[in-house]
Amino acid sequence: MAISAKMAKAFNDQINAEFYSAYLYLAMSCQADDLQLKGVANWFYIQYQEEIAHGMGLLNYLQERGGRVILGAIEAPRTEWTDVVAMYEQTCEHEAYVTSLINNLKSLADSEKDYAASHFLDWYVKEQVEEEATAAELLGEFKMAKDNPSATLLLTRELGTRVFNAPVIG
Ligand code: MG
Repeated sequence: MAISAKMAKAFNDQINAEFYSAYLYLAMSCQADDLQLKGVANWFYIQYQEEIAHGMGLLNYLQERGGRVILGAIEAPRTEWTDVVAMYEQTCEHEAYVTSLINNLKSLADSEKDYAASHFLDWYVKEQVEEEATAAELLGEFKMAKDNPSATLLLTRELGTRVFNAPVIG
């Protein structure tokens, strides 16, 4: 069964939100790189790659369901933060916001009786739990390390080891 026009519109909006997330984390990665915090830059760059994968997962699903992908303008992200703590604060806020968007999309799928889409979106619901938990953990750690160069160095070195594993969505 082809996806409804209403659901297709909602999927297109979420594709845009995921690509915006990618752009936001790429901006954080670039500022971290500028500050010579290469590990933090690496972590946010992988976050950027993950967000692209989230967007592509929705895009591929929409196509599979016979929906038309409409790519809209991606809003310019903020480009400067006072420090890494501020970056992770915004990451936490942003991921909580994305969770609300995913929940709304899941609710719409349920109310439209689009059980296939609802089931597909469960992956995103679970992913958001992990995204929020990871961001909160790193915010806590960078707050703890604030004003302590050796702790900050240790953390950024650790984040430098993160590698991108393409998520298997759906
Ligand atoms: Mg995402």
